[in-house]
Amino acid sequence: MNVQKNYQVIKKTIQETCQRIGRKPEQINVIAVTKYVSVQRAKAALEAGICHLGENRDDGLNEKFEELGNSPTWHFIGSLQKRKVKNIIEKVDYIHSLDRLSLAEEIDKRAKKTIKCFVQVNASGEESKHGCSPEEVVDFVQQLIQFPSIQIVGLMTMAPLTEEKEVIRNCFKKLKLLQLDVQALNLPSAPCGELSMGMSNDYEIAIEEGATYIRIGTSLVGNEIGGV
Ligand SMILES: *Cc1c(COP(=O)(O)O)cnc(C)c1O
Repeated sequence: MNVQKNYQVIKKTIQETCQRIGRKPEQINVIAVTKYVSVQRAKAALEAGICHLGENRDDGLNEKFEELGNSPTWHFIGSLQKRKVKNIIEKVDYIHSLDRLSLAEEIDKRAKKTIKCFVQVNASGEESKHGCSPEEVVDFVQQLIQFPSIQIVGLMTMAPLTEEKEVIRNCFKKLKLLQLDVQALNLPSAPCGELSMGMSNDYEIAIEEGATYIRIGTSLVGNEIGGV
């Protein structure tokens, strides 16, 4: 596992994909998802030049934060229980999993600065997935106006785990259309210019469909629990 080499491969893919479809590689931010790896690997990601790190649990975030402080930009990408908000709120820059009002209320109550949030959308409709339904997104964003500490920077989704590229692509396309719906509201607290989508297996498709943040774990920093 060589994080630097993996990052080179990913950067090349980003570059080639962008060139093919006429996007700029600078528009794509790579988040190294370190949830399956040690602090050492997270450090290796920073040394390779990555500045965004993602964690999906409060204890994982805290363990790494203790060592790395706020030199990386921290992204919380996992489903978030209300009672855990206080454990992460002062460390994170972005929360990718805002999907219900009660959570927004708690974030707003605990926040000491503006928290950049992505509304997580269950674009695939799978029952196992978190996120608000596509039909609810616009309403939900409008209700978030009441929380002054919450800024909606974009939408986030996870594609279904499938080999069928068209299914994945449709999921990302759906998120892009919803982003346009939210942007059309013209809300100062919801610029919604970003799309957080794409992981190790599907980030190329995500870039083709408009991703601005891709969240990559396994193929970038590996999975020490899984032995890579
Ligand atoms: C684990 C995780 C990722 C990274 O997954 P890989 O397939 O290892 O790249 C991205 N996003 C979320 C929300 C995750 O939980």
